[in-house]
Amino acid sequence: MIENTSGPIDTKAAYLLTDSRQLSFPEQSIFFAIKGDRHDGHQFLPELYHKGVREFVVETAGFTGKTRELAETWADARIWLTPSSIRALQKTVGEHRRRFNIDVVGIAGSNGKTIVKEWLSQLMAPGQRVIASPKSYNSQIGVPLSVWNMAPEHTLAIFEAGVSRAHEMEYLQPVVQPTIGIFTNIGSAHDDGFRSRKQKITEKLRLFTKARKLIYRKNYTEVDEEIKLILKPVNPFLKTISWGTSQSGADIQVVFSPQKDKTFIALAGILGDHRFETAFRDEASLENLAHCVVFMLDWGLTDVAIQERIQMLRPVSMRLELKEGINRNYIIDDAYNNDIQGVTMALNFLAQQEQRTQRTVILSDILHSGQPAPEFYGTISKILKEKNIHRLVGIGPEMLKQAALFDIPQQDFFPDTDSFLKEFPFATLSDNLILVKGARPFSFEKIVHRLQQKVHGTVFEINLDALTHNLNYYRNKAGTNTKIMAMVKAFAYGSGSAEVAGLLQFHRVDYLGVAYTDEGVVLRQSGISLPIMVMNASTATFDLLWQYKLEPEIFSRRILTDWINYLTEKNEPSQAPAIHLKLDTGMHRLGFVADDYPWLKDTLQANPSLRVATIFTHLVGADEGVHNEFSRKQYAAFITAAEFLENILGYQVIKHILNSAGIVRFPEYRLDMVRLGIGLYGVEATQQEQHLLQPVGKLKTVISQIKYLPAGETVGYSRNGQLEQDAAIATLAIGYADGYDRGLGNGVGQVWVNGRLCPTVGNICMDMTMVDVTGANAEEGDEVIVFGPEVPITEMAKKINTIPYEILTGIGERVKRIFYKE
Ligand SMILES: *Cc1c(COP(=O)(O)O)cnc(C)c1O
Repeated sequence: MIENTSGPIDTKAAYLLTDSRQLSFPEQSIFFAIKGDRHDGHQFLPELYHKGVREFVVETAGFTGKTRELAETWADARIWLTPSSIRALQKTVGEHRRRFNIDVVGIAGSNGKTIVKEWLSQLMAPGQRVIASPKSYNSQIGVPLSVWNMAPEHTLAIFEAGVSRAHEMEYLQPVVQPTIGIFTNIGSAHDDGFRSRKQKITEKLRLFTKARKLIYRKNYTEVDEEIKLILKPVNPFLKTISWGTSQSGADIQVVFSPQKDKTFIALAGILGDHRFETAFRDEASLENLAHCVVFMLDWGLTDVAIQERIQMLRPVSMRLELKEGINRNYIIDDAYNNDIQGVTMALNFLAQQEQRTQRTVILSDILHSGQPAPEFYGTISKILKEKNIHRLVGIGPEMLKQAALFDIPQQDFFPDTDSFLKEFPFATLSDNLILVKGARPFSFEKIVHRLQQKVHGTVFEINLDALTHNLNYYRNKAGTNTKIMAMVKAFAYGSGSAEVAGLLQFHRVDYLGVAYTDEGVVLRQSGISLPIMVMNASTATFDLLWQYKLEPEIFSRRILTDWINYLTEKNEPSQAPAIHLKLDTGMHRLGFVADDYPWLKDTLQANPSLRVATIFTHLVGADEGVHNEFSRKQYAAFITAAEFLENILGYQVIKHILNSAGIVRFPEYRLDMVRLGIGLYGVEATQQEQHLLQPVGKLKTVISQIKYLPAGETVGYSRNGQLEQDAAIATLAIGYADGYDRGLGNGVGQVWVNGRLCPTVGNICMDMTMVDVTGANAEEGDEVIVFGPEVPITEMAKKINTIPYEILTGIGERVKRIFYKE
């Protein structure tokens, strides 16, 4: 049944689905197919139908051809055809929102939205049943998905809304319909989507066109002006409560007085005189907290209650972190809010990881659920089963009480965290992916600490969202007709091959490329099923190639002859991995040269059972204009040879030539596939479009000791670090064995400490490095950024005459890799 509509959808479903991979309850889900630039939800309709989904919202532009023909035969499905699925989603949720008559807080602004939302829901939780957006769900899709969870038991809702271009808030306002607004601040983020800062501010303010009340900081004078000029005229009944530091003429004067280990916050003005203290000391946290304090005062809470609640606040970690654990486990540490959505999201993240097949969940009581416990825990139990969890550890009195509802192959329950730590047989938990998800009072950080591999202070953090961003950036450039082979050789450019490959598989790249057979084997052992090309496979590893279905690059007469002999011996041509023919058009590394082509022709003709998947070559200077002429010659030579070989084979093969730099500089040579390497990891090799990529890796270490030394002293081996002035010298827990190149010693390299660049002093040692932290206000144990957004790896590489590739792949094995998503 297909009906046309441009209004809200009268769905029976309980779950709104926009990403086919997040499916949990097919019969109760409605799928919104969205056609984007690089992704088309319509292509998943048959799969979802097959899995049991029966309600679909589709778009005129995407619901065509075969998919439509097929869908028209689904007699038991309901299909709504709309101009835009996102708008239909928003309208549907807007209707849902109108059913509730409670206070809804809408949060807009450049920074701090998620923290203010998260804090406010913690602060208001005593006494209110709060519903809040999960994580930073604040987009055109994230906002409706959040608001959809409003239910009759809630007494207060808190949602954040973000916009990145003009007119977006127009659609979000009716979805959230906030009664109370908070405008956090205005910064420069996302400026490119707007004509001016002013336009950006007015766009954000649109969230409050029907609000009753608005809290904002008056120090942002442009915000203050726009509220008066634009917002007030369209919403004359709006009551504004402004606060400000210094002489801002705000309704409430706020003074922050930082002490050694806390900050006093004094407020004076229309809500009376008050004084609170907090352990937070940084500007951003204090601003976020002030918004919350003003909100609570206005809500009518007493000073005692407010102070008590502030005391309980913790910094918000918004990341899902994947860490290596003891006993070859991997741990996903998610100590964020523990509500049903948080749990579902974490389980989805768990399901996406391929490192281990056995999955364990350690889960605390879930607080503030609203629903009756048996019903609520019944749902959780269903989700756990759905996600194929093998082992469950339930911690807390509620979990213990509802234990009978769970039906997981292996399950244990404990009344509290301490008894778990004392009694749990940790040795029985190995080779698992473990999700640790607990509400704050259960102190699950103790569990993470117990499970985590102990480290020395240096870690390499990999931002999986940035990696995804970069992948999509190159995907867009390559276009829909060109496949992507992602190069994950050399431990995925130092970033951790299994984890990176798992993400790439999730995002459905077409091929992976590694340098050596062993690298491919590791990927297979970590659950990677994508086709994998091995560039430098030796005859000695053919058995492994066969066994793990890895596809060799064939680059010489010798290796092809060996391969044919090997296959003859095996005598199972249909089981043989496909091969990739490498042509040498000028690199003079591996590959067949023109002289080999006649031989190659005869050999291919004589062995028709060989399956050639691709033919490729490599440009020697794709990143540099001086080599354009040579690159063109290489391309021409390649095309001639590849077509010649393709003709002999009698079938089409995938042809490819471009690496990351080539994708940027030679879009006309994209052919059937491109081989994406360094760009994925955030380095744009030509440096023309660096600003459009996101840095992926951040190498961090810690200060082990600080010494205050007088001028004239020397630091390190050979007395090379001569101090000309009195200096504070910090010893860092990183040396050349960790990949911090010895060439960076004696002031060549700089690290980032507390917002300041600090030069190295003296020679770099094997395990340690000394830097000058004079004036940086540093303390022992402080975090130090070796490279990352603050210290670009490209600049670091230039200083020692190398390229980012070498620095990335040189990061030592003992440096722990941490993966996270925002
Ligand atoms: C490493 C490699 C790539 C990827 O190169 P980047 O410059 O990292 O994009 C592509 N093709 C071949 C043959 C490679 O060895």
